[in-house]
Amino acid sequence: MNNINSESKIEEKPKESSLEDKLVNKFKHGWEIFNDEQKKKTLKLADEYLDFLKNARTERERTAWTIKIAEKNRFKRVEIGKNINILKPGEKIYYVNREKNVAMVVIGEKSIIEKNHHIGSHIDTPRLDLKMRPLYEDEKSSLALFKTHYYGGIKKYQWATIPLHLTGLIVKKDGTKIPIDIGKNPDDPVFTIPDILPHLSKNVQNKRKTPEVLKGEELNILAGALPIDENNKNNKDAKGAKEKFKINVLKILNEKYGITEADLQSAELNLVSGLPPRYVGLDKSMIGAAGHDDGVCSWTGIRSLIDIKGIPKNTAIMSIFDKEEIGSNGNTGAQSAWIRFVMNDIMVRTGIPETLTNLHLTLTNTLMLSADVGSAINPNFPSVHDPLNAAVLGKGILIEKYTGGGGKYGASDVLAEVMAYIRKIFDEKTVPYQIVELGKVDEGGGGTIAKYFAESFNCDVVDAGTPVINMHSPYEIVHIADIYSTYLAYKTFFEAD
Ligand code: MN
Ligand code: MN
Repeated sequence: MNNINSESKIEEKPKESSLEDKLVNKFKHGWEIFNDEQKKKTLKLADEYLDFLKNARTERERTAWTIKIAEKNRFKRVEIGKNINILKPGEKIYYVNREKNVAMVVIGEKSIIEKNHHIGSHIDTPRLDLKMRPLYEDEKSSLALFKTHYYGGIKKYQWATIPLHLTGLIVKKDGTKIPIDIGKNPDDPVFTIPDILPHLSKNVQNKRKTPEVLKGEELNILAGALPIDENNKNNKDAKGAKEKFKINVLKILNEKYGITEADLQSAELNLVSGLPPRYVGLDKSMIGAAGHDDGVCSWTGIRSLIDIKGIPKNTAIMSIFDKEEIGSNGNTGAQSAWIRFVMNDIMVRTGIPETLTNLHLTLTNTLMLSADVGSAINPNFPSVHDPLNAAVLGKGILIEKYTGGGGKYGASDVLAEVMAYIRKIFDEKTVPYQIVELGKVDEGGGGTIAKYFAESFNCDVVDAGTPVINMHSPYEIVHIADIYSTYLAYKTFFEAD
């Protein structure tokens, strides 16, 4: 029997299934499984997701986007420990942590202490951050540049010679927040990292290994190339300035945002890929964009929570985290105690006595999907995968029993009993899915937030997310059928008993 079981309502049953059909496990392409209505929905969701990609690129932007969506769908914002009113099944609330995490909750029929279904994803993505003292002038080239510090596991060379957008905020000493968003508007300028021309790269670059094609301290961004105009009467006080190019950039920043160089020290300024999200392929079957990791699972997760039909049996929680790409650390990462505080607060709001034991049981009885992307086979580098255990673009959400590297180091490795439950609920709803590993044994490795939840909640966690090609590059690729499969899988999980 294949994974899309023969009881499927959508697929036409063959009159007599062969021995092969009965016994052999094969993953089918989403497009072979979806009916016409589902195919239409796939196209509609892809358009919606494309819009999200254009407007929500960093954890701050994605939090702001999520708050908007939550409000629009009548989720009520609550603060931990404040204005406690007992909630009824079907009621919807959400929590926000430091403008970088959100947890959206739909109260279910059963008590949360008995069982609850939680999907966790991350909203940060690999990128470049401006250093705290970023701006300098290069005398030899007569240019002003920003120094950067890369964020997450990037191949640094991929981020040169492409347009980059600057987004984030500067906070002045008096607490004023100044939002920065340069590049998204087509009239805005963009930024870029200059690479060496091939004509002169022979000695300085050609023999370098891949991680050092561009080194960390070579990821400097072109910020400006005009000296301050000393003859302009408004610039009288600029006479005799040593760094004319740097001063000109600072003057523009001062005029536009009212800031000085020192204010850049209390700022979070992110350079994100300026390559516009677009459909890829003649059949428009794929979407190219930065930040599918993990925008695609975050978006489909939120979207599926909103679309839950009726009152779910189990309380459904969709949480989005920051800092996954740098180890899930800090007070906005998945290792923060915040999500346990949230779970305690939901417990209190549903009338469960606030005891440590009750909290322990609530956490333990959480069933979780760690919603994060995985790798699909790249046709140019198929050798890194074991083809029998590798995800294929278009064949549905990928499910990993374990992640990690080497001898499964760093994996939480969920129980077989939990894998059986996941197979059952997805097969019942004809969700296209593929059960896979990241790559060949000893080829590399990776992790998600799964192990942190498994450890700090003592709960069961399965990795389940969308297959991606070009992961961590400024132009990652996902398949539209997999976006729909992921949505369908998450919705099925939230609605399941
Ligand atoms: Mn990820
Ligand atoms: Mn990642």
